[in-house]
Amino acid sequence: MAIAVPAYVRAVLARLESAGFEAWCVGGCVRDSLLGRRPGDWDITTSALPGETAACFPEVSRVEAGRALGTVGLVTPRGVVEVTTYRVEGAYASHRRPEEVAFTRQVEEDLARRDFTVNAMAYHPERGILDPFGGREDLARGLLRCVGEPEQRFQEDALRILRCMRFASVLGFVVDPETSWAAEKNRGLLKTVSGERTREELTKLLQGARAAETLRAYRTLFFAAVPELQPLAACTQESPYHRFNAWEHSLHTVEAVPDRPVLRWAALLHDGGKPCTKTLDERGQAHFFGHGKAGVQLARGLLDRLRFPGEEARRIVTLVERHGEPLPMGETRVKRLLAALGPEGFEDLLALMRGDVSAQAEELVPGRLALIDQAGALAKEILARGDCLTLAGLAVNGRDLLELGYRPCPALGRALKSLLDQVLDGREENQRQKLLARAAELLEENQG
Ligand code: ATP
Ligand code: MG
Repeated sequence: MAIAVPAYVRAVLARLESAGFEAWCVGGCVRDSLLGRRPGDWDITTSALPGETAACFPEVSRVEAGRALGTVGLVTPRGVVEVTTYRVEGAYASHRRPEEVAFTRQVEEDLARRDFTVNAMAYHPERGILDPFGGREDLARGLLRCVGEPEQRFQEDALRILRCMRFASVLGFVVDPETSWAAEKNRGLLKTVSGERTREELTKLLQGARAAETLRAYRTLFFAAVPELQPLAACTQESPYHRFNAWEHSLHTVEAVPDRPVLRWAALLHDGGKPCTKTLDERGQAHFFGHGKAGVQLARGLLDRLRFPGEEARRIVTLVERHGEPLPMGETRVKRLLAALGPEGFEDLLALMRGDVSAQAEELVPGRLALIDQAGALAKEILARGDCLTLAGLAVNGRDLLELGYRPCPALGRALKSLLDQVLDGREENQRQKLLARAAELLEENQG
């Protein structure tokens, strides 16, 4: 079967081969093309050493970061094409990245170091598919199977256990029994995988179409990577508001929110504070007072350990903190939330709340969803009217107060903040004269 290799990738193959080297498309792009999916990027594997590759493209800017591992990134108008020298794996240090790489001139040896049979195929427009490990057959059967001895492969690099779950989620494949058994047996090694690599794989897993099913089927593996969430699995919810335990509820919420990383992570973490705040009343009903706050603690610790970028972590934590906003939401609260989260953050909050609610007791779902829709409609109106939501939108600013003769001091900032509060609550109009008069009163109280 012919694969439609884009012209800019064919040009890279041709340049390497006309210099006497061998070059193939490899890995994810071959797998995805055979599945009829659009490849994310086109990786090339070649017999040329990194220096030889660089010499073939003297006029092209290059990314050199991966050079020690054999990768030269060619910067093309269509994105970076990674060209990696055929490699065999050297010694492994504590089950992580290869400490050293050894190059080879044999493409089959390079394919043998790759993780799963479906990722270990190469393609060349003239020579066709190279598939020494039965990748095509496994693709047809929807099967993830390690290249070589599964235990050894997971012991070499425990990240492959998470990659296995990631591909199960994204491709909807099942894991071959021997591979899945070896993953279970070696799950303790997931502790050795860096936070950053764990985050990258789990984020892709969470965005997959089968995210919830995969986490359900492989929860022991997931909890080995993220022990912080293990208590959810034992957290029953004896409550008329719920039909699932906290773990199942979280999985249903993950499934019910749009597949953006921030929302999927927030859905997974939103009830992380439940196990440690659970109480049972005299009638045997469960309560989780303050679980939002407890969840914030847990989420902060986890996101920090997984080295989330600050802004992303902040957005996830805010969603965890606010996911239990009481319904219905009146105009004042919608404005306050819009002011605190910004329009996109508020949209995300409503999306999380919809997901959360849809995984609660069935009879509550339609009513609560309607209240969330109402809040969304209210926010639209408020934004369309251009109501003041921030200090920048206030009809007076710090300069106005200085011009009135007040000295620069923290009280000025506090006065403006208080004016904004009053405007948001509808106690004061956002009107210059009125606000100046109100500011004078506040500052007299304060400075007088
Ligand atoms: P996508 O780019 O769509 O996320 P991919 O299969 O291309 O999927 P990458 O992480 O880009 O995944 O890796 C490219 C290829 O490198 C894989 O297809 C696989 O052949 C190989 N590979 C990546 N990581 C490992 C690993 N930890 N162990 C063995 N082989 C790996
Ligand atoms: Mg890739």
